[in-house]
Amino acid sequence: MEQFQELLSTNPLLLLAYLFGSVTFILGLKMLSHPESARKGNLIAAAGMIVSIFATIFLYQYKGGEGQPVGLHNYGWIFGALIIGTIVGTLAAKKVQMTAMPEMVSLFNGMGGACAMLISLIEYRNDSMPPTGKFLIIVLGMIIGTVSFAGSVIAWGKLNGRVKDKTIPGGQMINFIIFAGIIVLSVMVIGGFTVSPFMFYGIAILAALYGILFVMPIGGADMPVVISLLNSFTGCAAAFGGFLYNNPVMLTGGILVGSAGTILTILMCKAMNRSLKNVLIGSFGGAKATAGGATKEQGNYKEISLSDSAVLMAYAQKVLIIPGYGLAVAQAQHTCHELEKVLEEKGVEVSYGIHPVAGRMPGHMNVLLAEADVPYEKLLEMEDANDQMGTTSVVLILGANDVVNPAAKDDPSSPIYGMPILEVEKADHVIVNKRSMKPGYAGIENDLFFKPKTSMLFGDAKKVLQSLIAELKQV
Ligand code: NDP
Repeated sequence: MEQFQELLSTNPLLLLAYLFGSVTFILGLKMLSHPESARKGNLIAAAGMIVSIFATIFLYQYKGGEGQPVGLHNYGWIFGALIIGTIVGTLAAKKVQMTAMPEMVSLFNGMGGACAMLISLIEYRNDSMPPTGKFLIIVLGMIIGTVSFAGSVIAWGKLNGRVKDKTIPGGQMINFIIFAGIIVLSVMVIGGFTVSPFMFYGIAILAALYGILFVMPIGGADMPVVISLLNSFTGCAAAFGGFLYNNPVMLTGGILVGSAGTILTILMCKAMNRSLKNVLIGSFGGAKATAGGATKEQGNYKEISLSDSAVLMAYAQKVLIIPGYGLAVAQAQHTCHELEKVLEEKGVEVSYGIHPVAGRMPGHMNVLLAEADVPYEKLLEMEDANDQMGTTSVVLILGANDVVNPAAKDDPSSPIYGMPILEVEKADHVIVNKRSMKPGYAGIENDLFFKPKTSMLFGDAKKVLQSLIAELKQV
């Protein structure tokens, strides 16, 4: 509070800019909760961020050597970094394929953690900082930021397939020892029992190791939880930076990201029917393909032709489309929307069943379908879609696999056992479009493909949808 009053009397313009930034963050976040306003919300928050950054560069003042207020002066470094960051960020965001979006988000999240880590590493040696609580904030910011950075880099590798799930023997014990080491070193540094910078840097190394080892074994269906957890870590680390610099806008931004990430983590755990503790120690999904239906005798699956699929859907009363990661791979969202319109012209009621972890990032399917202008009201959350399943004539699954795998309900040995799924078997007919019989992200076979009500429609989602539309126009 004192700092705010000081800022109000010495630098009201800067405080006003920070207030503006904080309000835009809150407004932006609110608008992000609906696909129609999300783009605008993002722009509004970005505008607030730009104002806050430039206000800091040009208006921020600190006490110089003789107690005189001094502004920032190393503009060459500041603008050099700003220009490089802007170019790299813009190019990466413009060039990224929709399918690589989750990886990029993970990497960007890691960069936030890295910033918090660097701030702590630099400010540790800065003697001009007020000592009260300084080390507590610096150490906490560094631990959380480093764990988030290292963990996000591993998550990035896992999402693009470069890093495989790995359960290290005795991994939990190793993690526990590392964690204990972090606590001991932190107490020594914060309590002033040591002035050795090596102790401080030791914390950073242990935190990086912890981040790597804690994400490494987590795989399969638990990745969404880890991604949102790392997101909340980055927010908390940024908030510590806000405390350190008495910067209200950094504090607000950090708290918003931290709390939004925490809420998302809780929602994801709920969606997966798992406790956070289970996700973190259970390394769920790490047993890829060794459990569940992988080795089971599956029987035969049956195929359906394009024309039969078109007839089945044209005469259906209600069609429920279930999009999955494959729809994003095929970039078939626009064609899917077109199919929806053709079916509706024929009097068929069409809606979409959205599983909370479908795709490769939280909200992936919502973003994908919003891009194709699919009306938001047509998107049913998992519970609502399941309620409607019994009255649905045809379920059309487009590139989804794990989120419709009945092993999650029926097979206690399956690595996805316990995860709520879209219960498509309750519908009259199920058409599954994918390119082969290969498993999805969790690496396990899917019994659904061998059920009597299920018919496989093989091929790339976009090509299949284009052909389906052509067939439907002739029915
Ligand atoms: P899955 O990964 O289970 O399955 C996707 C299916 O799409 C594959 O079986 C693949 O089969 C098919 N496919 C791929 N390309 C195409 C194409 N061009 N045309 C048609 N089909 C295609 O995806 P789901 O969405 O069902 O489930 C998501 C999984 O990802 C869950 O296990 C979830 O836990 C995990 N995950 C989710 C995250 C999130 O935040 N949402 C983050 C990280 C992981 P084929 O190769 O035979 O075509």
